[in-house]
Amino acid sequence: MADLSELELGYDVPALPGMASGEIQTPALVVDLDALERNLARMRGFAETAGMRLRAHAKTHKSADVARLQMSQGGACGICCQKVSEAEAMVRAGITDILVTNEVRDPVKIDRLARLATRARIIVCVDAPENVEPLSQAAQRHGVTIEALVEIDCGAGRCGIEPGPPAVRLALAIAGAKALRFAGLQAYHGPAQHIADPAERAAAIAAAADVTARTVSLIRDAGLDCDIVGGAGTGSFPFEARSGVYNELQCGSYVFMDADYEKIRAEDGGRVGGFENALFVLTSVLSLPTRERAVCDAGLKALAVDSGLPRVFDKPGVRYTGASDEHGVLAVDGGELDINERIKLVPGHCDPTCNLHDWFVAVRGQTVETLWPVTARGKVF
Ligand code: PLP
Ligand code: MN
Repeated sequence: MADLSELELGYDVPALPGMASGEIQTPALVVDLDALERNLARMRGFAETAGMRLRAHAKTHKSADVARLQMSQGGACGICCQKVSEAEAMVRAGITDILVTNEVRDPVKIDRLARLATRARIIVCVDAPENVEPLSQAAQRHGVTIEALVEIDCGAGRCGIEPGPPAVRLALAIAGAKALRFAGLQAYHGPAQHIADPAERAAAIAAAADVTARTVSLIRDAGLDCDIVGGAGTGSFPFEARSGVYNELQCGSYVFMDADYEKIRAEDGGRVGGFENALFVLTSVLSLPTRERAVCDAGLKALAVDSGLPRVFDKPGVRYTGASDEHGVLAVDGGELDINERIKLVPGHCDPTCNLHDWFVAVRGQTVETLWPVTARGKVF
């Protein structure tokens, strides 16, 4: 928890606890705490019913406060990070169970990872035999054990060793390394997350689960257990759960949702997972050049647009049509906007949007309840 008592509005933060939400300095990253808590409860309930562990991905929010909520009320057994620096920020903030869902190959990064393992449980992904000895040696230098998952390419076409015998050989190499512990498999299918048609998405994950199941069984034949078989994102987790192969879900975006995830449907035709919008960029109208065009103060420096422009929340007849560095253009098709009117935008892509801000302004109802730093903001190294 950050010490907010010394912080000054404007210089340090876009809002202070106790303020009305209408007084927040914009643009600001705003979290709707009630919606966030309902999202946490939904995912916790899903994981419990499915009998799976949840290891929430902190790449989404990069916030130790949100990570702590995920672990306390959200049912998460630990968190995932994507970068060593992200993990360092989380460990420094007190999180003690972290899976780095990535390969770590640079010698200095490997050393940093091993140093982290003196303070937390650290699990890392490995997809090449050459990575085994450097990790083991760094762990020995620091007097720790690093847990390692063999990452397989389950169809995603990113990192990952070939499933089947090459993955088994790698698992055996890890198990034989002095200061490593073979902990299982990483089988995350990124491109499947945003496949619009739920049947096609299910088919992509069924194929991934097939190669994963085959690899788990070969690894068992070789005398090793996969404690963790991890993967899944917000778009696909019901399918990994149903496969019976995976036992850890590593969803991230579920906690906030974003406009891109609203575009795809769950099998019942509803929103994926039934998750609500808990993350907004609050913006203000600063110019009304014509009746049909308003300009707000949230542009590319406040919103990531790689997955599409933000959606205007709860304001029918107003659309966000263009972003430049510091401006957002709004098309006003019906009604009128006023100068200084506040508008809630649902970011196109939650993860990179969070990385653009220093603070989350956590709001309950119409009141700012607290502020959370974006702990690992800029920690991409
Ligand atoms: N696991 C890994 C390895 C990822 O790279 C990601 C996101 O890119 C996730 C989990 C979480 O996915 P999502 O934000 O779609 O829930
Ligand atoms: Mn993302």
